[in-house]
Amino acid sequence: MRKKIVAGNWKMNKSLEEALSLTSEVVNMVRDEVRGDVEVVLCTPYIYLPVLQKYVQEVDRISLGAQNCHHKASGAFTGEISASMLSAIEVPYVIIGHSERRQYFGETDALIAQKVKIALENGLKPIFCCGELLEQRQNEDFIAIVKDQITAALFDLSAEDFGKVVIAYEPVWAIGTGLTASSAQAQEMHAALRAHVAEKFGAQVADDTTILYGGSCNEKNADELFACPDVDGGLIGGASLKSREFTNIIKSRM
Ligand code: PGA
Repeated sequence: MRKKIVAGNWKMNKSLEEALSLTSEVVNMVRDEVRGDVEVVLCTPYIYLPVLQKYVQEVDRISLGAQNCHHKASGAFTGEISASMLSAIEVPYVIIGHSERRQYFGETDALIAQKVKIALENGLKPIFCCGELLEQRQNEDFIAIVKDQITAALFDLSAEDFGKVVIAYEPVWAIGTGLTASSAQAQEMHAALRAHVAEKFGAQVADDTTILYGGSCNEKNADELFACPDVDGGLIGGASLKSREFTNIIKSRM
C-alpha cells in the first residue's frame, strides 16, 4: 500500500512567531480531527526546523521537511545547507527540484539528480518535483517532458532507493496562479508517470510510489483531486499557510 501524504510548502513565508503558532495549530487540529493514515509534512524555512521539531514530535503522523539542500557533502559554499545537516537534526523529508528552484536558481535536471542522490545517501526522503510550463502544455508533448524530468533525476537510482522518493507533479502554470489542473488532467499525468515508473522499476514499485499533486490546491478542490486513483495527496503552497484550510485539505477523502 502506498503512503498518502499532504505536505505544506511554506516557501519563504512566516515570522518565527507565526511559524510557531501555525505549527501548533496544525498539530492540534490533526491530532483531534484527522483519523487514518495520512502523513503530514511541514516544509518550513531551514532556520525554523530545529525549533519546530518538538512541536511535531507530539503527533506521529506529522513530520518536517526542508525545501532544498545542497548537492555536495560539505565545503566552501557560503550560505548553503547540506543534506547531512538536515539529517543530523532528524528532518526526514526534503523537497528537491521545485519549479521555483529550477526557474530562479537555475537548477537543472543534472543538478537535481545529484541532490536526490545526496539526500538519499544521508537518509532523507526526497519529495521530487516535476511539471511542465504553460507553453509546453500548449505546444509540446507535455507528458513526455515530465517523464523525461523523472528519467533524468531518478532512473539512475536503485529500486530500493527509488522506493524512498515521493514524486510531486506540479504543473508550473498552476503554481501560485489560482489555476488548478482539473482532476482529469491530474489523473492523466499521474497515471502516465506511474506507468513510466513501472516500465523502469516494475509494477510493484510503481504501485507503491506516492505521487502528489501540487499547484493551487485548496480546501475547495482537494477532494476532487485527491479522489483520483493515481493522486496520493498533495504538495500545498499558499493554502498550507492557514491552519484551518490546510487541515481541511488533509481531511479530504483519498
Ligand atoms: P501553490 O504552490 O499551492 O501556492 O500553488 C504549490 C507549490 O509550489 O508547491
